[in-house]
Parts: sequence; C-alpha cells; structure tokens
Amino acid sequence: MKPSPFEYHAPADLDEALDVLARVGPDGGKVLAGGQSLIPLLNMRLAAPAHLVDVNRVAGLDTVEAGPGGVRVGALARHAVVERSLPAAAVQPLLGQALRLVAHPVIRNRGTVVGSLVHADPSAELPAVLALLGGSVRLAHRGGERDVAAAEFFTGPMESDTAPGELAVSAFFPALPPRSGTAFHEVARRHGDYAMAGVAAAVTLDEDLRVTAARVACVSVGPVPMVVDVTAACGGSPVAAGGPGPDWDAAAAAVRDRIEPEDDIHATADYRRHLTGVLAVRALRGAADGAAADGVAAARAAGEGER
Ligand SMILES: Cc1cc2nc3c(=O)[nH]c(=O)nc-3n(C[C@H](O)[C@H](O)[C@H](O)COP(=O)(O)OP(=O)(O)OC[C@H]3O[C@@H](n4cnc5c(N)ncnc54)[C@H](O)[C@@H]3O)c2cc1C
Repeated sequence: MKPSPFEYHAPADLDEALDVLARVGPDGGKVLAGGQSLIPLLNMRLAAPAHLVDVNRVAGLDTVEAGPGGVRVGALARHAVVERSLPAAAVQPLLGQALRLVAHPVIRNRGTVVGSLVHADPSAELPAVLALLGGSVRLAHRGGERDVAAAEFFTGPMESDTAPGELAVSAFFPALPPRSGTAFHEVARRHGDYAMAGVAAAVTLDEDLRVTAARVACVSVGPVPMVVDVTAACGGSPVAAGGPGPDWDAAAAAVRDRIEPEDDIHATADYRRHLTGVLAVRALRGAADGAAADGVAAARAAGEGER
C-alpha cells in the first residue's frame, strides 16, 4: 500500500520548522525524522497525517555533545553515529550497549535516537535507557521550549508527552557517579527484531566495592519502560571476586513482581516474566562487574598518583 495524500514541508532551519509546525501541527501535522517507524505506518495507513514536516534539512540538530554531566543527543543524530561516538561511550556507555541491539545497521544508519524516544514503543531500547538514567527530552515550539523528565515523558504505548506543534530538539542522557557500571541484555526471536524481553541495568559501588545503588529498566513487559530499584534486595553486598556476591536472584524476584507483561502472538505473559528475571540477573551482574572494574581502575590511578 501507499500513504494517503499529505502535504510535504521541508523547512530549512529551526525557526521555519517551528513556524510550519505551529501552523499544521494541530491540524494533523507529523514530524518526519529517520522515517524508520513513520514511513511503514504511513504505507500501511496506520497513520494518515494531513501534513508531513521533514526536518532532515534543518541545520544544527545532528549533534552529539558529551560533557562531564552526560550526553546531549540532537534530534537528527542517527543511531549509528551515537553508537560509534567514543566521547559519548566514555561518558555514558549504556547508549552504545543499547544501540547495538536496535534493529539492523541499515536502520541504525537512518533512524534517530530522539525519534525513537518520541515514538515511545514499549519494546524499544532507548526509552528504557532514558528512563533508567533519569534523562529528559527537550521540546521546542514557536516561542519557547520545555524539558520533560523521562518519568513523565512516556505516557503509554506509542504515546509520549509531545504536543502538536512541538519538535523534540534533543535528549539528555545523564552520566552515572564514579564506580558505576551498566549493561543491556535482551532476547528477540530473530536478530534485529524488537525484543520479547530486555533489561538495562545500572549498578553503583562504594569505595569498598559494595553495592550502593542498583536499578533496572525493562522493555516489552508493560505499557512504558518499567524502572525497578532493586537496591533493597542487593545493597551493601560486596562485588569483588571470591565472595558470595550480591543476591541477584532476590533482585530478579523483585523485578518479576513489578512488571506487567501480557500475552501476545510472540510469547505468554508467564514466559516474558520468567525471561525478564533471567535477563535482570545477567544485566545486573554485567553492570556490577563493570562498576567493579571502574572502581579498581580508579583506585589504581589514585595509588599511582600518590607515588
Ligand atoms: C525492521 C525494523 C526493525 C526495528 N527494530 C527496532 C528495535 O529493535 N528497537 C528499536 O528501538 N527500534 C527499532 N526500529 C525502529 C527504529 O529504531 C526507528 O528508527 C525509531 O523508532 C524511530 O526513529 P526515526 O528517526 O526513524 O523516526 P520516524 O520514523 O521519522 O518518526 C517516528 C515518530 O516519532 C515522531 N518524531 C520523530 N522525530 C521527532 C522529533 N524530533 N520531534 C517530534 N516528533 C518526532 C514522528 O512524527 C513519528 O510519529 C525498527 C525499525 C524497523 C523498520
């Protein structure tokens, strides 16, 4: 099938884009970014906007800025660019860990990180990353802009707090404290498919390499990314090799209790719940190992500095 008729707009700069969106947004206007989700929806006539506002010619939106506080990703930064950004990986490695699991390389060459956030698919990796890190999305409209925290941004399946006439201009992914580690594990039926279940984890340790914070965000098991703080189940336990280690099974049980999976053609709710528990253990263990390596490296660097 082909899309139903629409009027095409190709603004050249941000002011023009916001002017066009102010005019046509409330009248069924849609932003076109990478088109990797929107074009299939148009072709299948699951969406039929009267106006398409193609922002791909708007200068200055393809930025990836990594600073001590986090990584700000512009609206036209493609998945592949963010995935390969070494400065971004140094500040927030979870971005690259998640992006490697998004679709196929061809789709990552075109799809945008911010587009994925606005699209808000509950099976998508990037909304879970933003939610886990407590990041935010910056939305511009003619005459102003606002920042929306991840906890408020994802409002339902394929629903985000983006009003007609607004353009999401960037998203901010905060850095984690020292001695932190992250990991993302998922299971999909075929390589590159959306995950049947997936878990992003972030673990922070103290100077004795004991867990001070542990959180996960789960995909495909609820209407929005499900963030679960499991510090109560594993906090205080040492991560260093040789000891019994944190009780990751107790943490996984807490995660299984909190999620809201449903049956669908791909898997039963029970299977998704079981899978999420298994993936939570893997992701938490991986994140803790990364945090411990970070802590050991920091201690070694400090020791060398004193010599
Ligand atoms: C075969 C296939 C497999 C895929 N697998 C995965 C996967 O495993 N995981 C995953 O996360 N994604 C997957 N995707 C989706 C892909 O990541 C998309 O690129 C992404 O979801 C949307 O980004 P986009 O830039 O292509 O947005 P578009 O398709 O251009 O837009 C998507 C929606 O967001 C809106 N939008 C986009 N940008 C903005 C903006 N700046 N401001 C306001 N509104 C905006 C659009 O109006 C539209 O409603 C897959 C896609 C395909 C085709």
